[in-house]
Amino acid sequence: MDMQTSFLDRLFESGLLIDTGVDGLYGRSGQFEDVITAFERLIDRFGGADGAEAMRFPPGMNRALFEKSGYMKSFPQLAGTVHSFCGSELDHMSLLECMEVGQDWTKDQQATDIVLTPAACYPLYPTVAKRGNLPKTGGLFDLQSYCFRHEPSKDPARQQLFRMREYVCMGTEQHVTDFRQRWMDRGVEMMKQVGLDVTIDVANDPFFGRAGKMMVNNQRDQNLKFELLIPIASVAKPTACMSFNYHQDSFGLKWGLNLEDGSVAHTACVGFGLERIALALFHHHGLDVKEWSAGVRKTLWG
Ligand code: ATP
Ligand code: ZN
Ligand code: MG
Repeated sequence: MDMQTSFLDRLFESGLLIDTGVDGLYGRSGQFEDVITAFERLIDRFGGADGAEAMRFPPGMNRALFEKSGYMKSFPQLAGTVHSFCGSELDHMSLLECMEVGQDWTKDQQATDIVLTPAACYPLYPTVAKRGNLPKTGGLFDLQSYCFRHEPSKDPARQQLFRMREYVCMGTEQHVTDFRQRWMDRGVEMMKQVGLDVTIDVANDPFFGRAGKMMVNNQRDQNLKFELLIPIASVAKPTACMSFNYHQDSFGLKWGLNLEDGSVAHTACVGFGLERIALALFHHHGLDVKEWSAGVRKTLWG
């Protein structure tokens, strides 16, 4: 048995993460948040001159648009839906009785029009499609959202509610693949500036079931997804702290995203896992920010 205190236990003991009793659902201390805020400022410094349009959506999205996205085809195991009590007073009585005797009171909850956002970019595509054709310069957007994924784990880097900062690019194939390459280079440089050693590798999404195997193979064969990896939970299996995704014209076709000349837009998105980056910094430089090297502190706090 491993008698070492786990990284998660040390995070709880230091107060950086706050235990809620649910794996992957944590409070964060002021210090933890301060690191995320500082890292987001670093992101702004690298991306700021590109002129991305900032938008912020809440961590829930329109259920009808979520259904249209096809998320349930690919990742049913990760989705979270919002259900509410919609009954009468009589229904309320039986609800309370049910709770009283410790039976399942949730089975009569009704689906609302809201599902939890699975990735920061999901609400963007239908929003942009509604505007009509993209301008000649294409589209570039700056997003940040809490995201939900049902993947409870003792690994503090795999949370159920976490924040994703994203840039999303829409345009021609050349335009969006250049965008993706630029952010891969920037990602490596940013992590170097905060003293983190990284690798970049081809990756895949966890498509569900047997049909999903084909999607995985296709995604890897075509180099559609890359990840920037940093050791947190293990050196042998480093953690994805950024991802770089090229969707070809699949989102353009699905949502009706068109360029100025009417052709279908290609899209790509680059995601920063903000909690994972903060955890990588604490894991690598220590739990006490005051002891981080002057260089790293200067990059983050000036
Ligand atoms: P993984 O392979 O580790 O499950 P992913 O491929 O599912 O990651 P993406 O869907 O590309 O990740 O999400 C973008 C970024 O969000 C990831 O690079 C990662 O930094 C972060 N992220 C993804 N899932 C989680 C999670 N459960 N907890 C914290 N951060 C996450
Ligand atoms: Zn995305
Ligand atoms: Mg995942």
